[in-house]
Amino acid sequence: MNFSFEKIIDISQPVDEKSACFPGDTPFSRKVTLSYESSKIINLTALTMSPHVGTHADAPVHIKGSLSPNSSNDTTAGAMSLAAFIGPVAVIDLAPSKAGIAASMVKEKLKAVSERVKRVLFKTADTINFEVFEEDYSYIESDTAELLGQLGFVLVGLDTPSVDHIRSKELSTHNVLDRHGLVWLENLDLRAVEEGEYFLVALPLKFMDLEASPVRAVLLK
Ligand SMILES: [Zn+2]
Repeated sequence: MNFSFEKIIDISQPVDEKSACFPGDTPFSRKVTLSYESSKIINLTALTMSPHVGTHADAPVHIKGSLSPNSSNDTTAGAMSLAAFIGPVAVIDLAPSKAGIAASMVKEKLKAVSERVKRVLFKTADTINFEVFEEDYSYIESDTAELLGQLGFVLVGLDTPSVDHIRSKELSTHNVLDRHGLVWLENLDLRAVEEGEYFLVALPLKFMDLEASPVRAVLLK
């Protein structure tokens, strides 16, 4: 096995009080509970935010099941298998696009990726304003989700707030991906990434009772 790589490309969005968040969701906020200036010992903070702010992975319980403490749910962020979040990945460049990503647009490129690559990231934006929620974003059409499942992909990601359109009521893409056992990453930053094959590392934190988790997503080249 060869563990060497030349470059780490950070594909995570910055998270702070200015970070855009989905309408109705809870933005990042922070309280300083102890300051170094006053204590002369340490800085300490407490934070409040939706786990969907910034680059994150949704867990299956986001779209089904129960979050009640005694439901013994195995589909929370902390209980997800990590295997899909580490490994070879293809980046497909569709930028700039605000359209839905239909199977007809990506079929040939998906079939052309190396046999061993079972993860794909769709780049749809050359510019991203991290502070503004844009309703007009690219998303994954459910026929593409079906195709990814049929081709044996285990992870898909994109650089917009959701794999479904904001006006989708059924979240059909979320559900098709989950039915095929895929996991997905949202709010990536792929501006500096060229189309090609890389090695992805994007691990969700071990939040045992949450329906999503922030990830620090990187590509190794
Ligand atoms: Zn999400």
